[in-house]
Amino acid sequence: MTTTAEAAQVSLRSTVHEIAEMWRARGGQTGLVDAWGSGFEPEFSKLMADRGLIGMAWPKHWGGGGHSYRDRLAVTEELLRLGLPVTAHWIADRQIGPAILRSGSDHLKREFLPAIRSADAFFCLGMSEPGAGSDLANVSTRAVREAGGWRVSGRKIWTTYAHRATHIYLLVRTGPGSSRHEGLTEMLSPIDASGIEVTAIRGPAGAHHFNEVLLDEVFVPDEYVLGEVGNGWRQVVEQLSFERGGAERFLTAYPQFKAVVDSLASGDVESTPEVVARIGELSARLAVLRHMAWDLAGRLDRDEAPVVESAALKLRGTQFEADVVELLRSVNGGRAVLAGTPLGSLALAVPTFSIRGGASDVLMSIIARQEMREE
Ligand SMILES: Cc1cc2nc3c(=O)[nH]c(=O)nc-3n(C[C@H](O)[C@H](O)[C@H](O)COP(=O)(O)OP(=O)(O)OC[C@H]3O[C@@H](n4cnc5c(N)ncnc54)[C@H](O)[C@@H]3O)c2cc1C
Repeated sequence: MTTTAEAAQVSLRSTVHEIAEMWRARGGQTGLVDAWGSGFEPEFSKLMADRGLIGMAWPKHWGGGGHSYRDRLAVTEELLRLGLPVTAHWIADRQIGPAILRSGSDHLKREFLPAIRSADAFFCLGMSEPGAGSDLANVSTRAVREAGGWRVSGRKIWTTYAHRATHIYLLVRTGPGSSRHEGLTEMLSPIDASGIEVTAIRGPAGAHHFNEVLLDEVFVPDEYVLGEVGNGWRQVVEQLSFERGGAERFLTAYPQFKAVVDSLASGDVESTPEVVARIGELSARLAVLRHMAWDLAGRLDRDEAPVVESAALKLRGTQFEADVVELLRSVNGGRAVLAGTPLGSLALAVPTFSIRGGASDVLMSIIARQEMREE
């Protein structure tokens, strides 16, 4: 029997299909490679906002949609399956909005939640630095106290879409602390604040997604401090549950996977027993990953921060995606791995999937350390 929640999710999925139709009618592309990481289209985000699908899992009294995280997962699954260009609002919707809700002041909630929900504020993530990627406790961007706020100086790197975002999230050091994990603070800033300089870092095929962000005495007012001064480590770790535990960790290559399965089924591409067995195995793994994601979304609905489970989903999800790309290469006899083709772009992008959002080795350490704590 279909529950009310399941019926609502079916309806949300069809809303996504309607939006996809509207987007195609405007000449917009679908079936994109890495649609959530490199499909920055504010106009598409506006279509989503008009249907209330950004900030949909935030409480109504803060202007959110009042849906559950499971409802949001139904929507994100559909967006990713269709390969729709969701990058512009993705980070703000997935983690900055929830981080503001968990730790932010009423001022931040009032200022940013409506702007994110209406697709007017787009965030990029200023966490990594040249000496602090996996090891975020090593962040050395420094904030010095002054009247009414902080002066921030340092260098952030790999800041995806900083050149298109309206705002940047910053993890900075506000005090020494007695351990490396103390003295970190989260802040927000407009990207065009005085003292911020964004420089492009080109990818292997010449695309511009990454940036270096130089911060030279940038003034961040007290109102833009996110949460407690000095409590940035605990807050950022919780934020990573939102960053790592979603369907984007295993559906990035779904449109291309589906296209190959369809062309094998229709006989357009010749099949072999090995390929059929491989597709069977990958499909079963996909079902397991979905199960994990639905379980995680339920935990977010219960206001938990499932740090370890999200790390596990990301670890298994990016391994799955690498194996999907290997399947696609073998079906194509390795031929189509040229820059500019969807498979070529995917083959170039896939090594980064296990690094962005936390490298696999580091995720294994997080999971293993938790086991040791429980014994
Ligand atoms: C596509 C993409 C987009 C990104 N976007 C952003 C962004 O928008 N904002 C942002 O802030 N950052 C971003 N990053 C940066 C990303 O978060 C870091 O690259 C990542 O955390 C790894 O850090 P690092 O590059 O400093 O590598 P390092 O920390 O130097 O790690 C290198 C390798 O060493 C190993 N290693 C490191 N530490 C350990 C350990 N403790 N135990 C075991 N092995 C270890 C791992 O295998 C790792 O792959 C992005 C990265 C990619 C690839």
